[in-house]
Amino acid sequence: MSESKNILTDKFNRQHSYLRISLTERCNLRCTYCMPEAGVPLSPKSHLMTYEEVYTIAKTFVDHGVTKIRLTGGEPLVRKDFSTILEKLASLSVELSITSNAVIIDRFIDDLKKYGVKNINVSLDSLNKEKFTHITRRNNFDKVYNNILKLINEDFNVKLNAVLMKDFNEDEIVEFIKFTKNLPISVRFIEFMPFDGNKWDKSKMISYAEVMQYAEEAFNKNDILRLQDAPNDTSKNYKIKGYKGSFAIISSVTNPFCDSCNRLRLTANGQLKNCLFSAEESDLLTTLRQGKSIEPVIKKAIEAKFKIRGGMDTLQKLEKPQLHSKNRSMITIGG
Ligand code: SAM
Ligand code: SF4
Repeated sequence: MSESKNILTDKFNRQHSYLRISLTERCNLRCTYCMPEAGVPLSPKSHLMTYEEVYTIAKTFVDHGVTKIRLTGGEPLVRKDFSTILEKLASLSVELSITSNAVIIDRFIDDLKKYGVKNINVSLDSLNKEKFTHITRRNNFDKVYNNILKLINEDFNVKLNAVLMKDFNEDEIVEFIKFTKNLPISVRFIEFMPFDGNKWDKSKMISYAEVMQYAEEAFNKNDILRLQDAPNDTSKNYKIKGYKGSFAIISSVTNPFCDSCNRLRLTANGQLKNCLFSAEESDLLTTLRQGKSIEPVIKKAIEAKFKIRGGMDTLQKLEKPQLHSKNRSMITIGG
């Protein structure tokens, strides 16, 4: 077992126990920060992992020490065999969770419960219907909002992910925090990150420091409680005294959390990414289809992992589009 555990430990002694699996490159929304307006070229179906391949690859990771798997996408629920995948993965000794835009999640509540999914992250970038429609290029606010309330009622642990952008939703930071007053949810503000085709630039980003400034202007400083972050947590967690829920900031740009990174990503077409920001990929699916062991490919990918953000260790490097434009759009990585 110690030999097998080693393949998921990198040269900075980070042990990778968390795998995010993207199930599809497709989505029923079109968030501007996630995919280019013209869409993304989709992989042919034959290049995507079947549910058996998802299971086989996932099992290899679990055998080597992965204890958490998050299903993501694209929108994982648009995949026709989503429930079959869930059923297969539930047979592994692993904690299963999902990230979804929640547009159709009400149809899956029974299956999510049946297969032991408790933690659900939902993207919601605005509490305002018109703004939601603008950012997602789709008119699904009411469905998403009602489904979030439904998930809470059904006792799932719900986290809301809101990507913050200047002149779009920064004026809603305080409203989002107030949303946690009577609801047992965590709202997580995410710094806008650069990916292929999303027209990122630093001036559009709202930083961790700015979120705290908004919070401190709206609430009594003594009522903003810093919470203990979970091990390997990517977020800095806070709570307003007396509120049922909490809020957090995911500051990948201004304050990267690479030191304690335990994450790996598997794209829907079976490529292993050792870092969200890395353009490098390792082809597990082709190796598997050739009937070869994927373990040496995984080992090599982990050994090649950079210390910080796929080698973009300074904000200056991150700001150079030529350094990240080789990376995929978020929709095809799986956030
Ligand atoms: N469709 C699902 C959803 O929206 O929750 C799962 C996939 S989505 C790619 C996963 C997460 O990535 C979402 O919370 C989304 O907000 C986040 N994301 C996408 N593009 C991003 C960007 N440029 N910067 C920061 N977060 C981003
Ligand atoms: Fe779809 Fe999620 Fe990307 Fe929005 S963030 S386009 S919901 S994959």
